Amino acid sequence: MLTESMEDYLEMIYRLLQKKGYVRAVDLAEALKVQPSSVTRMIQKLDECGFIYYEKYRNVGLTPLGEKYGKFLAWRDEMLKEFFRLLNAKTDVEEQVEGIEHYITPNTMSLIRNLVNYFNQNLDRLKEFKTIQSQGEYPDGEKLVALRAWDFKHNDLSTD
Ligand code: MN
Repeated sequence: MLTESMEDYLEMIYRLLQKKGYVRAVDLAEALKVQPSSVTRMIQKLDECGFIYYEKYRNVGLTPLGEKYGKFLAWRDEMLKEFFRLLNAKTDVEEQVEGIEHYITPNTMSLIRNLVNYFNQNLDRLKEFKTIQSQGEYPDGEKLVALRAWDFKHNDLSTD
């Protein structure tokens, strides 16, 4: 079972591999803004779970399993961001995606993908949608400050 933190690492390893072709612990520490010691621990954990392996010079590589998950995690992140941007969400997209991504199921992601595809392929419908989305009752979200979402922070990757 991947923890939230493991998912973030795996996603970043996948992204860095796509971008640079190699990943070192120091690259991960920099990209995730965490201490090198946390990276070392997490790399060991992901190695034990069969998602990554060590290459020459201690570079990190993805096993087929790690590749499969990393690819999904990067896709999930991008699809959720696209979803919010497409609908002109009045929210901090990065923060909101961070609050959702680890809890949404692949099936629900498929629904979001379908919706995003539908609107991207029918831009006139998207226009129409935007004209009607302000109608209807809507709770005053800005004032519901006791909700957990307001207190949501994701700045400690080293705890689990
Ligand atoms: Mn995350």
